Amino acid sequence: MTEIYDLHCHSSVSDGALSPTELIQRAHQQGVTALALTDHDTTAGLAEAQACAKLEGIRLIAGVELSTSWQDKCFHIVGLGIDPGYAPLAQATLDLQNIRLERAEKIAAKLEKKRIPGALDAVKKAAGKGMITRTHFAEFLLSQNHVSTQQEAFDRYLARGKPAYVSTAWADLEQVVNWITGAGGVAVLAHPLRYNLTANWMKRLLAAFKDAGGQSIEVVTGRISADEIKLSADYASRFQLAGSVGSDFHNPANPWVELGRLAALPDNIKPVWELLG
Ligand code: AMP
Ligand code: MN
Ligand code: MN
Ligand code: MN
Repeated sequence: MTEIYDLHCHSSVSDGALSPTELIQRAHQQGVTALALTDHDTTAGLAEAQACAKLEGIRLIAGVELSTSWQDKCFHIVGLGIDPGYAPLAQATLDLQNIRLERAEKIAAKLEKKRIPGALDAVKKAAGKGMITRTHFAEFLLSQNHVSTQQEAFDRYLARGKPAYVSTAWADLEQVVNWITGAGGVAVLAHPLRYNLTANWMKRLLAAFKDAGGQSIEVVTGRISADEIKLSADYASRFQLAGSVGSDFHNPANPWVELGRLAALPDNIKPVWELLG
């Protein structure tokens, strides 16, 4: 049987709208046969997802999407096929929960200065036991009619350089890749074209990533054009990195991104699943 892969998506333990169970059920309905759950900086959804995947008869690949700081910018590294019990990774996700809570307090204080009170309570409530993300702030701003779309919340308040932006020192690239590879996983540079890097900076990033032990980049993501796939595939070839495919699905309300709705990986690219045990 040919597998239908989707190796990047989010549940409600980070900034996804669906619970791990709902996510697996939707993936199954969409024809996905192998799904990686890759929540931001947490593996807390994997146990529930695994239980549901077993019932639905879909293959769950244990994943995570870790934030990293490199050259003062934030990048996302997906880990695939990880053991969430690997102690350094488990400790890192605990630390990240506090880092995110402290960041949320600072973001809320900045919003308060803009006469937008109540954000901290709202995002804590929305995130529950999960990770607090900027998406939670965007949802709050939307619910209070300060903005009319989530995108506008980032553009006016939450994005880098905007009034409620708080810069965070995430773990460095080498550390993050080590957490993943130490946990038996494959490190994948997520959505490489979304960082708006020049070709020169992209090459530096990929060299550093490869040096750190990174093995793959996402060649196919949700909402990507044929030209962008070609460009990502060229980077994969040039740096001898395997290619991954992942929708980065967050919310069924977004009509542009669906679980498993992904272009094919170009033939000349080694698929990342060949590296997964
Ligand atoms: P965080 O890791 O808490 O900083 O949140 C990052 C998440 O916010 C990303 O994974 C996206 O889901 C979302 N995000 C970041 N930038 C934007 C943007 N410009 N528009 C919409 N969502 C965004
Ligand atoms: Mn997200
Ligand atoms: Mn990401
Ligand atoms: Mn993501």
